[in-house]
Amino acid sequence: MSLRIVVCVKYVPDATGDRHFAEDLTTDREAVDGLLSELDEYAVEQALRIAEEADDAEVTVVTVGPEDATDALRKALSMGADKGVHVEDDDLHGTDVFGTSLVLAKAIEKTGYDLVVCGMASTDGGMGVLPAILAERLGVPQVTLLTELSVADGKVSGRRDGDAASEQVEAALPAVISVTDRSGEARYPSFKGIMAAKKKPVETLDLEDLDLEAEQVGLEGAYTKVLSATERPARTAGEIVTDEGEGAKLLAAFLAERKFI
Ligand SMILES: Cc1cc2nc3c(=O)[nH]c(=O)nc-3n(C[C@H](O)[C@H](O)[C@H](O)COP(=O)(O)OP(=O)(O)OC[C@H]3O[C@@H](n4cnc5c(N)ncnc54)[C@H](O)[C@@H]3O)c2cc1C
Repeated sequence: MSLRIVVCVKYVPDATGDRHFAEDLTTDREAVDGLLSELDEYAVEQALRIAEEADDAEVTVVTVGPEDATDALRKALSMGADKGVHVEDDDLHGTDVFGTSLVLAKAIEKTGYDLVVCGMASTDGGMGVLPAILAERLGVPQVTLLTELSVADGKVSGRRDGDAASEQVEAALPAVISVTDRSGEARYPSFKGIMAAKKKPVETLDLEDLDLEAEQVGLEGAYTKVLSATERPARTAGEIVTDEGEGAKLLAAFLAERKFI
């Protein structure tokens, strides 16, 4: 039977653009271009490598996000994934990690899976907890933050590097894993891949399709609440140190004053 791999990919605001909060203190997603979270490219890469090694495998990429989040799916499809699932609903506005994991769990159950692959963290929210919550919701084992991994004999195994030690870990499938940015460079989509991605199927689901109510997600269903937000202060002009023999000293004093050294 085919190995069903599902990759969770997030559409995030471009970190090189200016980001702002909307009036309700959620990220103003309209004001900035988005893209596939760079850290999720590693997840797609690992899923594709596992699929290439398996006799028979199918890679589905799933995202919970606004209309433009299909861009993230298309990028993953152009890298080589087979199909996409896009959960989109106006009531998702303001959904926190608990709501997002609930929606993902429902979508993944509906799709069917043996292995769920996530990135180590998103490049915008950056909590890194979604894979663990997702595994709990699906009722399956989790092995997170893998830097090396393989799938064989109905198990996923890999190496997890910590500050003090490297652990060898494994879990029986079905399971949820997350992979780090040291798991292996993500491939660039080829021209052929980009063209092929345009024709690959993307299923769009809303809350009703997943038997979810609006109150379970959105700002209403969120466990966390943003109370206030302050825009980053505008950048001030830098200080130019002219080296007239004392340059190094002045530089060291500048860094020490700001507690960098
Ligand atoms: C329309 C919309 C509005 C939102 N508004 C808010 C808000 O106001 N406040 C708030 O706290 N959160 C909001 N969220 C949710 C938020 O953006 C995150 O998706 C969620 O909180 C997960 O946290 P994280 O990104 O830090 O996940 P992490 O735990 O850092 O992510 C780890 C991994 O989980 C997977 N993942 C995470 N998010 C998604 C996703 N959306 N789809 C697919 N895979 C994913 C990726 O593989 C990622 O690498 C909103 C989401 C959507 C879609």
